[in-house]
Amino acid sequence: MDFIDFTDYAETLQQMSLEEIRAVLEVIQRASDSYIYIMDLDTDTYMVTRKMLIRFPFEDVVIENATPALQKIIYPSDYPSVKEDISRCASGEQEMHSMEYRWIDAAGKIVWIDCRGTVIKGAGGHRLLVGRVTELGKEAKADNITGLRKEVRFKLDTEELLRDRPETIRYMMRIGIDNFKEINEKEGVEAGDNVLRELADCIVASVDLRVDVYRLMADEFMLVDAMASSDKDARTVYEEIKGRVADMVRQKEYSCFYTISAGIIQDEFMGRSAEEILRLTEFALNEAKRNGRNQMAVFDVEVYNEYLKRLDIRRLMRQDINDNFRGFQVFYQPIVSTPEYQLIGAEALLRWNCEKYGNVSPAMFIPILEESGLIIPVGKYVLWQAAKICKKWRDILPGFHVHVNLSYVQMNKSDLLNDVDKCMKEVGIPPESLVLELTESGYIETDTRIMDLFKNLKEKNIDLALDDFGTGYSNMRYLKEIEAKTVKIDRSFVVQALQNEHDYSIIKHIIDMVHSLGSAVCMEGIEGEDELDKMMKTEPDMIQGYYFGKPSPAEQFEKKFLGIKDSP
Ligand code: C2E
Ligand code: MG
Ligand code: MG
Repeated sequence: MDFIDFTDYAETLQQMSLEEIRAVLEVIQRASDSYIYIMDLDTDTYMVTRKMLIRFPFEDVVIENATPALQKIIYPSDYPSVKEDISRCASGEQEMHSMEYRWIDAAGKIVWIDCRGTVIKGAGGHRLLVGRVTELGKEAKADNITGLRKEVRFKLDTEELLRDRPETIRYMMRIGIDNFKEINEKEGVEAGDNVLRELADCIVASVDLRVDVYRLMADEFMLVDAMASSDKDARTVYEEIKGRVADMVRQKEYSCFYTISAGIIQDEFMGRSAEEILRLTEFALNEAKRNGRNQMAVFDVEVYNEYLKRLDIRRLMRQDINDNFRGFQVFYQPIVSTPEYQLIGAEALLRWNCEKYGNVSPAMFIPILEESGLIIPVGKYVLWQAAKICKKWRDILPGFHVHVNLSYVQMNKSDLLNDVDKCMKEVGIPPESLVLELTESGYIETDTRIMDLFKNLKEKNIDLALDDFGTGYSNMRYLKEIEAKTVKIDRSFVVQALQNEHDYSIIKHIIDMVHSLGSAVCMEGIEGEDELDKMMKTEPDMIQGYYFGKPSPAEQFEKKFLGIKDSP
């Protein structure tokens, strides 16, 4: 039943005593999910049905001092506006009362209600407000599973809060279940709904009444503390909820295990919108999950700006890729043999420049290309550039080979073998002129797909180099498994060896071991003569470092190292 219009019955009602009216209320009540009430505005008497007594803490069906009784039941911060609206009905300024606000139920929990009533003249000419109270939890504006208000409501309330009194906001906390998808998949949707209900209870029990709790989409909740008077700070609240959840999981004998993470924002509300706060808290929550879950993260504007910058860079790179790789360039760094220090090849190193950020370091943009999958087209571009230049330089230096870095994303998600094959055939270079560099991280020995790829490359006579050696696990078994022809020792490892004897002797032993497995060693990052002298005693087979040349564009490289003059 949506709205009972009693105006048509005004005359009949005028003939009836309050007792008779009350009896009618009980009859109507049976047919309604809402709670029917009458308020005598002249005598401040409130009449409710027996059903109402069960749900809300009214003392009797007839309440003689309605105002103080209602004040106890209406949520404190909503009370002033409700009072004002009802007094307008009492004074005859308005004929209807229609508001959504919060009541506190018999169990002390906050309940959103929609209260509507019409003013009519009743027995003895008294002004009566006759209407019904509907629990929004049973309607679409609140969530059916948890009984909490929904995201739509959060947005409306927050817009108001941000406009009227942003300075009172202590924090907004977004809570998410770490493994909700798994619960739904493994235990079923019903178990998932139970978890949501349990968590909602844990949250509501942990915050004081003045903190608003909303259910956002899926498994996420939002807590808004906009009462500077509440005594628990965000961390205390989070820890309390976490503790209750753990107790609950234990009590239920681990039938459904879950943990929760939270992201909070506690400053910087000024000038923001609800939408933006949803984004910022989502970011903080994701940070908490990225940091290992089961924890709370505080929104950090610097980290967020860095994240936005990465998104921007991704967007700009995508544009450039679609604009025929504008802004991308391949540089080449010489690789020399030992002990003659003769040029034998070069490593192709990608560069990217854009108007907005200038030259961006590969340490920044390569991971962005990887995360977005853009490394696949860009990797192909590098491969083709490198192959073409290699063909040109082999005419001058026949044994020359070019090293191209490969990302695990290219191996997992593109037809690398075919791409390499096609490129070599079309450009016309032999397989031995190409070395593919891979880093240790990103592959697992047991990944048969990748192991097959290595085998196929080997069969095609394409050599592999294991890059960044010394930065990860430096797994010798792995080295043997993939039969890398070359191991490239990372500069960071070399720097350590130059600084302390212990690391120096480790490098020495590693090089011996690599040799005994039949692979060659390329030492990276040699910058000065002293470094070269010291590291040469460890007997590397090749050197790549600023001492012999920094990465440079092809035209500079060929002028400097291959004696090719500018064409007239
Ligand atoms: P990497 O493959 O280990 O490349 C060697 C890095 O060490 C290069 O950094 C090079 O400039 C630097 N380097 C060489 N000698 C010295 C030295 O004497 N001193 C110092 N301080 N640095 C030296 P760069 O060009 O910044 O590249 C960084 C990383 O980005 C590369 O490390 C590689 O992992 C990745 N990368 C670069 N180009 C590509 C590419 O085309 N594809 C993929 N997947 N990754 C690439
Ligand atoms: Mg490399
Ligand atoms: Mg390297």
